Amino acid sequence: MGQRNSDGAVPDTLGGLTRTHYCGEIRDRDIGAAAVLMGWVHRKRDLGGLLFLHLRDRSGISQVVFNAETHPEAHAKAETLRHEYVIAVEGPIVRRSEDTYNPNLDTGTVELVAHRLTVLNTSETPPFQMDDDAQANVGEEMRLKYRYIDLRRPRMQRNVQLRHAVNLAIRKSFNSQGFLEIETPFMTRSTPEGARDFLVPSRIQPGTMYALPQSPQIFKQLLMVGGCDRYFQIVRCFRDEDLRADRQPEFTQIDVEMSFVQQDGVLEVIERLIGHVCEAAGAAAPSTPLPRIAYSEAMELYGSDKPDLRLPPMAVVTDVLEPGELPMSGPLVAIRTPSVGKLTRREREQFRGYARELNLRVFDDFRGLTKKMPGQMAAVRERLQAQEGDFLALVTGLQPAEGPRPDEAVLSGAGSLRRQMAQTFSDRHGLLRDDDLRFLWVTDFPMFDWDPTERRWSPAHHPFTSPHEHDIPKLTGDPGACRSNAYDLVLNGVELGSGSIRIHRQDVQSKVFEAIGLSPEEASHRFGFFLEALRYGTPPHGGIALGLDRLVMLLAGESTIRDVIPFPKTGKGTDLMCEAPNTVPPRSLAELGIALRVRPKS
Ligand code: ASP
Repeated sequence: MGQRNSDGAVPDTLGGLTRTHYCGEIRDRDIGAAAVLMGWVHRKRDLGGLLFLHLRDRSGISQVVFNAETHPEAHAKAETLRHEYVIAVEGPIVRRSEDTYNPNLDTGTVELVAHRLTVLNTSETPPFQMDDDAQANVGEEMRLKYRYIDLRRPRMQRNVQLRHAVNLAIRKSFNSQGFLEIETPFMTRSTPEGARDFLVPSRIQPGTMYALPQSPQIFKQLLMVGGCDRYFQIVRCFRDEDLRADRQPEFTQIDVEMSFVQQDGVLEVIERLIGHVCEAAGAAAPSTPLPRIAYSEAMELYGSDKPDLRLPPMAVVTDVLEPGELPMSGPLVAIRTPSVGKLTRREREQFRGYARELNLRVFDDFRGLTKKMPGQMAAVRERLQAQEGDFLALVTGLQPAEGPRPDEAVLSGAGSLRRQMAQTFSDRHGLLRDDDLRFLWVTDFPMFDWDPTERRWSPAHHPFTSPHEHDIPKLTGDPGACRSNAYDLVLNGVELGSGSIRIHRQDVQSKVFEAIGLSPEEASHRFGFFLEALRYGTPPHGGIALGLDRLVMLLAGESTIRDVIPFPKTGKGTDLMCEAPNTVPPRSLAELGIALRVRPKS
C-alpha cells in the first residue's frame, strides 16, 4: 500500500514502466510507436468525451489525448488530474489531423493516444503557472522562493541545458588544447583580488579562520611552479562585496593558467575556446583574431574599457576648434547615435538630464553649431563618419578633473552618455541587438590606479600582474604611466574576463609591492609562501579568468545572471528558498569559540 499524499491521494507506483521518449522529442518518425511518456501535467482541456493534456518534461511538451469511448478507464482517471501532477501515459503516437497542428510546439504534428494512465504523484496548486508568458507577472522573490518550480519553466530549462552545453564545450575545448582540469581548495587563506573574504571559522584550531577563495589565483600560479603547464577549472569563487547591480556572492569562473607563453598565446587559446562555446550554444562564432584595442585607445574611441562595438566610436575633437570657440574643461568629445532622426523636446531634455547626472557640459544643437562654425562642424561630422539622421552632440567637462589621467573623466562620461542614448533608442532602431555578439580584447591596461582616499597606488588588476618590459623603470618613479600586460575580454559592453602575464621575477615583484606601498613584512605576511615558491624555478606564465555566468547569460539573451544560475541569491545575498544566511544554535558558536556582538535582525 502506497503512502498518502498531503491531499489524501495514494499515488501509483512506477512498477515496471520504462519511459520510451522525452515529451519534447516525439516527431512524425515516431508515428505508430508504442510510447511511454512521463512528466508533469502542464495544461488540461476537457471537452467531455475527449480530454487533451499538455504533458511537460525538461525537453518540452507533447499533447496526450484521452478518449472516453475507446479507453474509458484512462479517461476517467485523467479527469481527476490537476496542474503539476506527475504522470506516465502509455499508448501509440499518432498523427494529428492537419487542422489541429500546433505550430507553437516542436511536437505539434503528433500526439499520444492514451491507453493507460499512471498517476505517479499529485501536486498542490503551484504558486504560479509554468508558462513563460505568465511568468512576466510573477515577482522574482516568488520565483526564487519556489525555485524548484520556477526551474520547470521551459525558459529556465533551456538556460540550465545551455549552461550544461557550454560547460561541456569548455571541457572539450581545453582538453583538445592540452589543458588539465585541476581542482584547487575552497578552504584556504586570503587571495589577492581586493574584495572582502568570506571566512570559515576553524573548530579544531579555535580563533583561526579559513577564507573562501576570491579566485584560485595563487594556486593556479603555484600549479605552474609545480610544472602542470596548462591548467583550467570551472570554479566557484566567493567575494563578500556590497552587492552592486548584477553580482552574486558566489559565482563561477572559467579559470585558466599556462606556462611558457606571452600574451598572444593566452589570447589565442581563449579565442579558440570562444569559438567552441559559441558553436555549442548555436551562436555564430566570431571571426578570429578578435579585435584588439589598447586601453588608451578604448578610452578615446569608446570612453570605456569595456567598449560596445555595436555602437560607432566617438571622436576627440578638441583640436578642431580654436581656443575659446566653445567653453571647455578637459577634452571636447563628439558622440553620435546612429539613425535616431530628430529628437522630440522630451527626448532632448532626457539627454540633457543624463549629461547633468554625469557632470558633463553638452552642446546638442548641432544645426546651430553648424551655422556658427560650418567648417569646424563639417570636420566633426567627417571624424564621426556621421550619416543623415544621426544624433550628434559635443561633450566636455563642467570643471577641471584631477588624478593621474584627468581626461578620463570626460572620456568615460561621454562613453556612458553615448551608451545611455543608444539604450534609450535601442527599441526604436534595433541598435543593440542581443544576437549581434561583438567580442574584443582590451590590452595594455594601466598597471596602477590612484586611490584618492588611501592616497596611494593600487594594482589595477592584481599585484602579480607583470608590467610592460620597458615600463619597469617607471615602477618606482612614475607608476601612473606604467602599463601592464593585462587584458580583458569584452562582449557587447560587458567585461567577460580579465587576465595577465604574471611576474615571474622576484626583483620585479618586490618593486611592484613597493609601488603599491606594501612593505616587505606585510607582503611576506600575506603571500610569504607564494613569494618563496617564486624562488624555486618559476616558468614565465600567464592566464585569465572568464565569468561563466555572464557568458551564459549573454548567450541565452537574458539580462540577469540570476536567470542562468539554478539557485541564485538576491541582491542582498539571501537565498530565499532555504533562507540562508541563518542563525546557528549557541552550542555551534560555542564550539567554534565565537561570541556574537551583533544580534541578528529577526
Ligand atoms: N584571478 C583574476 C580574477 O579573478 C583573473 C586572472 O588574472 O586570471 O579576476
